[in-house]
Amino acid sequence: MTEIRKRVLLAKPRGYCAGVDRAVQTVEEALKLYGPPIYVRKQIVHNKHVVSTLEARGAIFVEENEEVPEGAIVIFSAHGVAPEVYEQAKARSLKAIDATCPLVTKVHQEAKRFAADDYDILLIGHEGHEEVIGTAGEAPAHVQLVDGPDDADKVTVRDPSKVVWLSQTTLSVDETMETVARLKQRLPLLQSPPSDDICYATQNRQHVVKQIAPDCDVVIVVGSRNSSNSVRLVEVALDAGARAGHLVDYAHEIADEWLEGATTVGVTSGASVPDELVMQVLEHLAARGFGDVAEVTTADERLTFSLPQELKREMKAAAAARSKEAAALVADQLG
Ligand code: SF4
Repeated sequence: MTEIRKRVLLAKPRGYCAGVDRAVQTVEEALKLYGPPIYVRKQIVHNKHVVSTLEARGAIFVEENEEVPEGAIVIFSAHGVAPEVYEQAKARSLKAIDATCPLVTKVHQEAKRFAADDYDILLIGHEGHEEVIGTAGEAPAHVQLVDGPDDADKVTVRDPSKVVWLSQTTLSVDETMETVARLKQRLPLLQSPPSDDICYATQNRQHVVKQIAPDCDVVIVVGSRNSSNSVRLVEVALDAGARAGHLVDYAHEIADEWLEGATTVGVTSGASVPDELVMQVLEHLAARGFGDVAEVTTADERLTFSLPQELKREMKAAAAARSKEAAALVADQLG
């Protein structure tokens, strides 16, 4: 009897995007520069493992600025904040470091610009998500949330010729287009964002999953339940033809029943997931006969973002102070 060949299709791109990498590095560098504790408002990125690793190094995650002692350092997460959050920080004399992803900031700028031109803004996104709260907070009087295609019928606008849609960066591309199509049935003059709001990382991770899903008996997405882009990857995999899809934070959460009868397992991870967790999933699968791994690559990502200016400035000043001290020490020894 011939043995059935079991294999893993490993998606690439997967895992860390440029915005997450920058946000995590911001906390790490702040811990090195100022020493613990460093306060972080909300989870810096939506990943259980990243948050607990940073906690172990001295980061303290809080929900609101009021929980941060007056005058302390606070880092704002990659998802962005409303302007009132900066005001609150100022009122408490907090030293704020803004780790908002520049691609989220871009959507904030669009919201501000369209609000200044007195547009109605239809913000497609998930109710209660931090990013949506932050973006809507830029222009609360102009923004209406549209949470999926069914919400499109509830929208009311002042002038149907002056209305634009913007979106959360981590949505399903297909579902968003469905929502836009529904909105356009009622608002034919609806304008689109000047450039894609759903970010490159979200789009790339969904695109590669769509490629592998039809060949997969099961797709395992590494990511946390509160990670919008990770949850979307499971949905995209199922829509694209995977016979099953599961979200796990860690390899040990993979149930043996999921693999029963499977010959091809797809593996990917959300934009806030360190690759070490994916490697642990591969080891787990290899131990169950899925040792043959083929990586399927659909894009080459090279984008990086530099650290927040306010942090870079202080890192530079600290480095300059250290070299001055070292020079003074050498001069002392020589003299
Ligand atoms: S998923 Fe996109 S918007 Fe969010 S942090 Fe990453 S690059 Fe930025």
